[in-house]
Amino acid sequence: MSLTFTHETLPQRVVFASNQAVRHVAAEVARLGRRPLVIAAGAERHLAEPVLAALPDAAHHREVAMHVPVAVAERARAAAAEHDADVLVSVGGGSTTGLAKAVALTTGLPIVAVPTTYAGSEATDVWGLTENGRKTTGSDRRVLPRTVIYDAALTLSLPAELSVASGLNALAHCVDSMWAPRTDPVNQALALAGVRALSSGLPLVLGEPHGLEGREQALYGAYLAAVAFASAGSGLHHKICHVLGGMFNLPHAQTHAVVLPQVLALNAPAVPDRERQLAEAFGAETASGGLRRLRTRIDAPRALRDHGMRETDLPAAIDAILAVVPAGNPVPVTAARLDLLLRRAWAGEEPE
Ligand code: NAD
Repeated sequence: MSLTFTHETLPQRVVFASNQAVRHVAAEVARLGRRPLVIAAGAERHLAEPVLAALPDAAHHREVAMHVPVAVAERARAAAAEHDADVLVSVGGGSTTGLAKAVALTTGLPIVAVPTTYAGSEATDVWGLTENGRKTTGSDRRVLPRTVIYDAALTLSLPAELSVASGLNALAHCVDSMWAPRTDPVNQALALAGVRALSSGLPLVLGEPHGLEGREQALYGAYLAAVAFASAGSGLHHKICHVLGGMFNLPHAQTHAVVLPQVLALNAPAVPDRERQLAEAFGAETASGGLRRLRTRIDAPRALRDHGMRETDLPAAIDAILAVVPAGNPVPVTAARLDLLLRRAWAGEEPE
C-alpha cells in the first residue's frame, strides 16, 4: 500500500521540566510581554502563588468555571483590558486553559499555558464557550498557547480519582485519533506513543502518589495525546462525550473514562491493523483487553449513572449523537448500535 497523506503540525514551544515551572514561566513571559494576566482558580492558588511571586507586574484573575460560560469569559476579557495585559498565563486544568483561550480569541493575546491535569487543551487550537446550556466550539490559531510549560510536580495535588479520570480522558484522545476524520500515520504514531506513556504512567501515579516518575510519564502521554487529537480531529468517541457533557452537564473526564471502552469495542474490530497497533502499545493481546486491564489496575470510573445521567436521558442522547457521527467512522453507526453502547456505558456493563 502506498504511503500518502497530508499532515499539519501546530507551531508551539513546549518546555517539560519537573519543579521548574516558575523559572520557565518568568522566562516565557519576558519573551512575550510585560504585563501578564495570570488566570488560575482559587482552588489552584497553591499552584499559582509561586508563579505570581515571580511576576511582579502580574494581575491574578480567579474566576474559572467548567465549560467556559460566556459571562465568565466576558469578565476575564474585562480583567485583561483593565490590567492592560499583553500576555496571558493560565495555571490549571482544561477549564482554566479554556478561559485563557476565550480571552485570546477576542484579544489575540499570547498564552503561556501551565497545565495541572491531563486534559490536553493546551496543545490544541480548539476553543469552547457555553451559553444557555449549549456548548459552542471552534478552532482558531489565536487560541493555541504559544508556550506550554509542563511541570509534573504541579500534578502532585491532583487527587487519585481525578488523576485516573483525567488520564483516561487523555487516553481517549489517543484511541480516538486512530480513526478520527484527519487520522494519518504521524498522528497515529504520536497516539500510540501516548498510549504507552499513559498505560505505564497511570498505575505508577496511583502506586506512588508522591512520586514524580509516573506523573511525568502520564503528563508526557497527555501531551502526545493532545497533539495527536489536535491533528486528527474528533472521532466518534469525542462526539459522543461532547453531546453527553453538553446536554446533561456530566463531568468531562469521567464521561470520557466511561465511554472509551465501549467505542473501542465497537470500532477496533473493523480496523484490525490499528487494533493490533493499539494492543501492542497496551502490551496486551487485544486493544480492548489492554484497556480493560489498565482500567482494573487504576479503578476507573464505570458507569454514566454514577455521574448524574438518568436512564430516561438516553433516547435524546442517541438522537443528538446520530446527528454528529463523523463521516468515515470504521463501522456504520445506527440508532440500535448507539442504544446498546450507551445503555452499557450508563449501567457500567462491559462492552461485548
Ligand atoms: P478542570 O479544569 O475543570 O479541573 C477539574 C478539577 O480539578 C477542578 O476542580 C480543578 O480545580 C481541579 N484541579 C486541577 N488541577 C489540579 C491540581 N493539580 N491539584 C488539585 N486539583 C486540581 O477539568 P479538566 O478535566 O482538566 O478539563 C476539562 C475541560 O477542558 C472541559 O471543559 C473540556 O471541554 C476542556 N478541554 C478542552 C480541550 C480543547 O482542546 N479545547 C481539550 C480537552 C479538554
